[in-house]
Amino acid sequence: MDFSFTAEQQRYADQIREFAEERVAPFYQEGDVTGEMRPGLPAELAGQGLMGLRVPVEQGGLGAGCVTTGLALEELARADFNACYGVLQAALIADVIVHNATSEQRARWLPAIASGRALVALCLTEPEHGSDAAAIGLRAEPDGSGGWRLHGVKTSIMLGAYATHGLVFARTGGPGARGVTAFYLGLDDARVTRARTRDLGGRAAGRAELEFDGLPASPGEVVGGEGLGFVQVMRGFDYSRALISLMCLAAAGVSLDEANEHVRTRQAFGGPLGRFQGVAFPLAEHAGYLRAARLLAYEALWLKDQGRDPAVPANMAKAWAPRAAVEACHQALLTFGQLGWSESLPLAQRLRDVIGLEIGDGTAQVTRLVVARRLLGREHAP
Ligand SMILES: Cc1cc2nc3c(=O)[nH]c(=O)nc-3n(C[C@H](O)[C@H](O)[C@H](O)COP(=O)(O)OP(=O)(O)OC[C@H]3O[C@@H](n4cnc5c(N)ncnc54)[C@H](O)[C@@H]3O)c2cc1C
Repeated sequence: MDFSFTAEQQRYADQIREFAEERVAPFYQEGDVTGEMRPGLPAELAGQGLMGLRVPVEQGGLGAGCVTTGLALEELARADFNACYGVLQAALIADVIVHNATSEQRARWLPAIASGRALVALCLTEPEHGSDAAAIGLRAEPDGSGGWRLHGVKTSIMLGAYATHGLVFARTGGPGARGVTAFYLGLDDARVTRARTRDLGGRAAGRAELEFDGLPASPGEVVGGEGLGFVQVMRGFDYSRALISLMCLAAAGVSLDEANEHVRTRQAFGGPLGRFQGVAFPLAEHAGYLRAARLLAYEALWLKDQGRDPAVPANMAKAWAPRAAVEACHQALLTFGQLGWSESLPLAQRLRDVIGLEIGDGTAQVTRLVVARRLLGREHAP
């Protein structure tokens, strides 16, 4: 067993840490106030290879493994949790395209993702169907000449306010999972109306509702085959749960680092606060939880890099890591006393931002359902 990253992985992580501290972190709190993503951000991230982590080299990406992708996201999340969404979605959707699209589609779509020209969103959730995603109702109606027109509403779409393209799941057939098809579609179209949501956190990431009013979709925009959107394309989704876990853990980790630094220097009762066990032990305890959850997430990514199934550790990580991160962020905030409550520090914002991913991409209950199904067998699944 070897717990170390390769020299190449470590070099890339160091590069991203330096870039993120210099070019990304200074804007984290500003994004919370303006509620907007910086216009140049995707291009800057692409300049570091971050939008093309999972895009093969032939299509202009880095062709990086999943472990390297996790490392890069951790470094970015330490600086700006919300800047991660573009990188996360690009990694997930590029991976879906690589594994499910034709070579012609890969050549058409992937270079734009890697260069940051295409900002991609995952369009699955609907107002009436969230956890029960196989029940989605957005209709792809046949247009009479081999294509479709999309009618319906997607909600809670991260980057929905900005995305140029979406991986859109729509119903082309009957009820249930086998009636769902995945399309890769341009969203800059008058037949797509966007409405932003006002949120507790993640404010610079443009979560939005998208209404489709007859958006055309051609057979060349189907990913993986008609009716395979859920049963095949969605299989790529487990690994993004490990990536999300690492984002949350990294945001909490930097908060704990800051809290440790604070209690080294903050004087009370005749010395530094850190010498009181009531202060130091909770920080040590949360550091242990973050470390354990991080191993689970990296096990999932490592398994996927080996061509093995990451579903169990990825879903275990997603069920636990965001909650562990929320609790660690909360403890770090309290450790700063009144300063932690103030928005002059990013601690409160990190807490609000991380809570979102207790819900996004599957709640703890839903990810535990996946694990339970594997442990008990499908016949015991609801
Ligand atoms: C920050 C954030 C980002 C998101 N990004 C995207 C995105 O980019 N694209 C996208 O398509 N969606 C996105 N979502 C939507 C997200 O995936 C859904 O909100 C999530 O899947 C839950 O669906 P729901 O909100 O409809 O809740 P519901 O499905 O209505 O669930 C409500 C509650 O019931 C629980 N529950 C439901 N079913 C069960 C069950 N069988 N057993 C036990 N408990 C159950 C849930 O855990 C939850 O606590 C995002 C959400 C957030 C908050």
